[in-house]
Amino acid sequence: MQILDGKTVAAAAKEQIKARTILHKNNIGITPHLAAILIGNNGASETYVASKIKNCEEVGFKSTLIRFELNVSESNLVEAIKKLNEDASVHGILVQLPLPKHIDEANIINCINPAKDVDGFHPISVGKLVQGLDTFVPATPLGVMMMLKYYNIETVGKNAVVIGRSNIVGRPMSILLSANTNPGNCTVTLCHSRTQNLEKICAEADIIVAALGIPNFLKVNMVKEGAVVIDVGITRVVDEKKKSGFAIKGDVDFENVAAKCSFITPVPGGVGLMTIAALLENTLKAAGAE
Ligand code: NAD
Repeated sequence: MQILDGKTVAAAAKEQIKARTILHKNNIGITPHLAAILIGNNGASETYVASKIKNCEEVGFKSTLIRFELNVSESNLVEAIKKLNEDASVHGILVQLPLPKHIDEANIINCINPAKDVDGFHPISVGKLVQGLDTFVPATPLGVMMMLKYYNIETVGKNAVVIGRSNIVGRPMSILLSANTNPGNCTVTLCHSRTQNLEKICAEADIIVAALGIPNFLKVNMVKEGAVVIDVGITRVVDEKKKSGFAIKGDVDFENVAAKCSFITPVPGGVGLMTIAALLENTLKAAGAE
């Protein structure tokens, strides 16, 4: 069994991004600039956005954080996005999800200029992804693909199972794994809360991507000997032994599953770190860098 180490892959990706950023600045005088919009003060969202900003600094990007109170109106939010759309010095725009209930998420995503849609959630980006055209790919599934590539994991012709069909992770993951690319070219089964015989489907998979948000969901009896297991899940569970009062748990029963796998990602230290690296990659692309 080999650990797919997000720390190693993300560090390598960031080094490369840093070098390409210097080159881009020297060649055409452009510094990639990411603008993040954060609404309210949800603990997890605060942590994610702070980490994105910190990572931007580390690779030499500019970043701007725009904060709104939880009761911000949809029109004020739209106004802020329009300003960023028109600001030529901003290359990437992200709106940290989830949004408060009174705001229409689809409308907000639709307002982002697709050329600056570094989260890859705009319908134009999604349409291009489905058609196999060059576009911004949502960061978490892109990060998983970067990891598969780094470790040279054979995907062509393999049976892949993705658990979870969200627009952010599961569905784009299934599209990428089934694309005519390498990594890619898998036969993909996309499972969700209504899937029947999930255990049997998983037990036949060469590659499993668990992205449902239920800690320890994927048990050892659901995994074939030698399978590749990618754990996207991040759930905060109460842990009084930790200073923060919580521990981060993945969707895979790592302790029992790991020994049976050829490759497995840990949580933390796996896909989460890749998500940030992929966002940086998208921002560099939005700034026009090679
Ligand atoms: P979501 O709640 O939008 O979607 C969950 C999906 O899981 C749904 O499609 C649902 O049908 C499916 N599901 C729920 N219960 C199921 C069951 N019993 N059997 C099979 N399928 C079931 O969640 P999301 O935004 O896709 O996130 C999934 C997990 O990934 C969460 O833990 C989230 O925190 C984590 N996440 C991690 C990263 C990262 O960077 N590592 C990024 C995004 C999300």
